[in-house]
Amino acid sequence: MIRTGKEYIDSLRGRKLNIYLFGKQVEDPVEHPMIRPSVNAVAATYDLAESNPELASAISPYTGERINRFLHIAASRDDVVNQNKMQRRLGQLTGTCFQRCVGMDALNSLHSVTWEIDEAYGTGYHQRFLNFVKFTQSNGYVIGGAMTDVKGDRSKPPHAQADLDLYVHVTKRTADGVYISGAKAHQTGCINSHWMIVMPTIRLGEADREFAIVGAVPVDAEGITYVYGRQSCDTRSMEEGDLDVGNANYGGQEAMVIFKDVFISNEYIFMDGEYDFAAMLVERFTCYHRRSYVCKSGVGDVLIGAAAAIADFNGVEKASHIRDKLVEMTHQNETIYSTGIASSYQSTQMKSGVYQCDDMIANVCKHHVTKMPYELARLAQDLAGGLMVTMPSQADLDHEELGPLLDKFLKGREGVDTRDRLRILRLIENITLGRNAVGYLTESMHGAGSPQAQRVQIARQSQLDYKKKLALRLAGAAGEEPDEDFEEYMARVFRVET
Ligand SMILES: Cc1cc2nc3c(=O)[nH]c(=O)nc-3n(C[C@H](O)[C@H](O)[C@H](O)COP(=O)(O)OP(=O)(O)OC[C@H]3O[C@@H](n4cnc5c(N)ncnc54)[C@H](O)[C@@H]3O)c2cc1C
Ligand code: SF4
Repeated sequence: MIRTGKEYIDSLRGRKLNIYLFGKQVEDPVEHPMIRPSVNAVAATYDLAESNPELASAISPYTGERINRFLHIAASRDDVVNQNKMQRRLGQLTGTCFQRCVGMDALNSLHSVTWEIDEAYGTGYHQRFLNFVKFTQSNGYVIGGAMTDVKGDRSKPPHAQADLDLYVHVTKRTADGVYISGAKAHQTGCINSHWMIVMPTIRLGEADREFAIVGAVPVDAEGITYVYGRQSCDTRSMEEGDLDVGNANYGGQEAMVIFKDVFISNEYIFMDGEYDFAAMLVERFTCYHRRSYVCKSGVGDVLIGAAAAIADFNGVEKASHIRDKLVEMTHQNETIYSTGIASSYQSTQMKSGVYQCDDMIANVCKHHVTKMPYELARLAQDLAGGLMVTMPSQADLDHEELGPLLDKFLKGREGVDTRDRLRILRLIENITLGRNAVGYLTESMHGAGSPQAQRVQIARQSQLDYKKKLALRLAGAAGEEPDEDFEEYMARVFRVET
């Protein structure tokens, strides 16, 4: 079993993946300077499990062994809560996306969905799925979650697209399995994974039956091409020196994954044609994933720290408006965390036995995430000052004649090394404009669904009729009594634990 970060990095060596970056094939992604920071971020998930097993690992009921929490099926409310605690900690340690939550959330949602498909249709998906869980746990693998199709014309369902490949679909069936074609966009950590789980991305109808496919494929399967996604300022990691990168050790990773007749063996197929369960899978996955975004509160801790440090280095730490802005940043950051962890604490047990977090509060968490990191970034840039975007390069700082001049003119308060001041500015740039702004800002907007997707879910669960009745009663206006037999979200709100 892969246990340490080093063992994980070694497990990625020598694989034959068809990866393109800058129009050329990448022979050795592990040692590529633009890719390596993303590998290091995943490695941190293994190292945390070693250094803090209570937080980042669990005992598997399937193998009896201690396994990484990212592979654990939540068997209690505490398990769901601990996912969030681990995610915040990893955000603090890496300042970026550590890539393993999509797989964790896919595994947990498939536990209940495969069980319920079997219940409805007498299929055998759940046992196959459990076998796959045991297999990944025994090996300590990284699992990618491939949900988002490229989607073409967003107003049309998959079967009505001009090109059917715009959604991943089954192209051929044999007695041993199926072949799929299509493409998945924005795939987090796919090249750093060992296996990925392919899933539909939207509610499907009967005419979309061939798009209702869920299956696990090894990332080096024949027929897969990866096209590496660019991140702002990414080529800085190919330059000399580490100062201009801002966060030299850690970064995220996204790529487009193109499938051309990729084979999925029967034993790894967890849905095939049950189109009426696609919406359930999407909703349960996004429910977990929308509160997984507490990872941003860990990155937010780093950004708040950087903002406080630059204010200190500039000699303005005690100014009242600076202190107030740091309080505002903290307030917003903790709002993200509070809603995520509340969703996890409100978990309920599904028929399959897995615990699922609260859907309403998970959506509220993710909706905050579409806004608050932008405000934290704005405040951090306010405290940073303009030098964050106008400062010279490390090469200028290292220049024999320029260096001493820049050291003199870019000084902050006495006692602070000029380079430390510049390093903190580069870190703020990295999180708010550079490589890690991909994860901290735009992924906060769109990852796990764009803002409107959360508003739809919040609207569905807002129970307005019940709330109207509450208001009418108190106002003494005509109306029915509110039903105290609580349903849906309210039932979860008023559930009393004994
Ligand atoms: C950094 C990053 C990492 C990601 N990682 C993963 C991953 O690991 N796995 C994965 O599966 N996905 C991943 N995603 C994908 C994410 O879930 C999608 O970005 C998200 O679902 C939005 O889809 P889209 O990007 O295609 O945007 P679009 O669907 O093009 O949305 C753009 C806008 O159009 C609106 N819109 C879209 N469709 C409609 C419609 N039918 N009617 C009205 N308005 C509409 C949206 O609300 C939005 O405002 C990641 C995304 C990012 C940015
Ligand atoms: S963005 Fe956050 S939740 Fe998503 S995979 Fe990265 S670290 Fe995990």
